[in-house]
Amino acid sequence: MAGVRLGLSHSLAAALTEQYAQAEPTPAPRPYLVAFNATLATELGWDAAVATDAAMLFSGNQRPEDAYPIALAYAGHQFGNFVPLLGDGRAILLGERITTAQQRVDIQLKGAGRTPFSRGGDGRAAIGPVLREYLISEAMHALGIPTTRALAAVLTGETLHRPQGRVPGAVLTRVAQSHLRIGSLQLWAAQGDTVRLRALADYAIDRHDPAARAEANPYLAWLNRVIERSAHLVAGWQAVGFVHGVMNTDNTSLAGETLDYGPCAFLDAYDPRAVFSSIDRGGRYAFGNQPALMHWNLARLAEALLPLLDPEPSRATNLAYAALDTFVPHYEQAWRARFAAKLGLSTRQDGDEPLIREFLSRLEQGGIDFTQGFCALHAIASDRPHPFRESWARSAQMQAWLNRWQARIAQEPDPVARLAASNPRIIPRNGWVEHAVHAATERLDFAPFHALLAAVTAPFQDHPAHARYAWPPPDQGSAPFVTFCGT
Ligand code: AMP
Ligand code: MG
Repeated sequence: MAGVRLGLSHSLAAALTEQYAQAEPTPAPRPYLVAFNATLATELGWDAAVATDAAMLFSGNQRPEDAYPIALAYAGHQFGNFVPLLGDGRAILLGERITTAQQRVDIQLKGAGRTPFSRGGDGRAAIGPVLREYLISEAMHALGIPTTRALAAVLTGETLHRPQGRVPGAVLTRVAQSHLRIGSLQLWAAQGDTVRLRALADYAIDRHDPAARAEANPYLAWLNRVIERSAHLVAGWQAVGFVHGVMNTDNTSLAGETLDYGPCAFLDAYDPRAVFSSIDRGGRYAFGNQPALMHWNLARLAEALLPLLDPEPSRATNLAYAALDTFVPHYEQAWRARFAAKLGLSTRQDGDEPLIREFLSRLEQGGIDFTQGFCALHAIASDRPHPFRESWARSAQMQAWLNRWQARIAQEPDPVARLAASNPRIIPRNGWVEHAVHAATERLDFAPFHALLAAVTAPFQDHPAHARYAWPPPDQGSAPFVTFCGT
């Protein structure tokens, strides 16, 4: 089996020699392939031989001949506090691959052992967080929201010691446009190292936004571009009820992808104050705060880029402020477009935004399920039954809103098709994700994981076999759901 090549290249390692440390994956004692994303492997242009060797390749046991394994260095603001050196403590980048669509992507092993950035950690990942990330990132992709992808999940055969007890270890193979984050630039900005800062910005521009190169001020053009796509990203999260949970600057991708699925969760009942993460005691990263926190993170990006924006500090600051001022209009425009579509609207009228906001208030006041609330509108517009219809008919306020909304969609060309395409029936609900993770962790039973994966990767389909995943599990208690960081 020696001599497998994955067609990897190493543009980052060649261009930015100070941005990483070499890090060999630690072999796993008994690799066992739990999941392999054959569709993604095809997009990566890999043939069946890669699938055959997947357990060995994607556990780190077999080093592809053309790998150059590295751990990336970065800094970051964690819960508002600056940490000058973080880095990949349990992630190892094997290299980059050009997809069949001519896109350069990173191939990264998460949980393949210690790196120079591991500090006290074991560099390993538990099967629970690995399967959570697999499920939720693939669900996000199916929902049409930019995200890192999951290629493979492999059990290592090792037992890890975690606060909740002894758990099986695993490796997730993650595919991303890149793993560069705001924190990658902050590493150099904090040291006042403008040479390395510029080299990194140049690399990121060439890789992600080559069009910015042609602008009069490429760094400003690039900053504007990152701000715009980050605004669109967070509007996408709000439209599906996704709570990232740990929106630190080291978890905010420069490529505009959802990155780091540690303590994330989806809303059941609509609640802007919803917080799921055990470590977010102050509610900093609550659902409703996400747009403001993205804006805050982008301000840290602008701050890091100041020396590149203009040699004259006050001019640089003014440029940064003007760029940051575009966040709110971009976000509001993206948010309105997403939510208008969720109401079945494809044309625009003045009263649309109040109509959206009032529906969200009704959901909030009634503690109504966010995803099913919009599915109920789809059912009403297509004259199908839905469990909410009866109780909504008894509420004068909801009825008044429904009358206004029905009058509005009567002016639309095809509101039912719009509702169907904009409102997922299935999201990776916390209760079902926990079921799948529990079965895998306690019994090495992966059937619930595979059944749930099939459902969440077809979120807009009404498949009878997936119907139960459209609601929280029947045995879900009323205790608040809590997530723990993905260690
Ligand atoms: P995260 O919460 O995933 O953003 O991780 C924060 C930092 O802790 C990152 O630098 C990780 O690489 C590091 N880290 C988390 N878990 C481990 C682990 N098991 N071993 C080593 N480093 C870890
Ligand atoms: Mg992270």
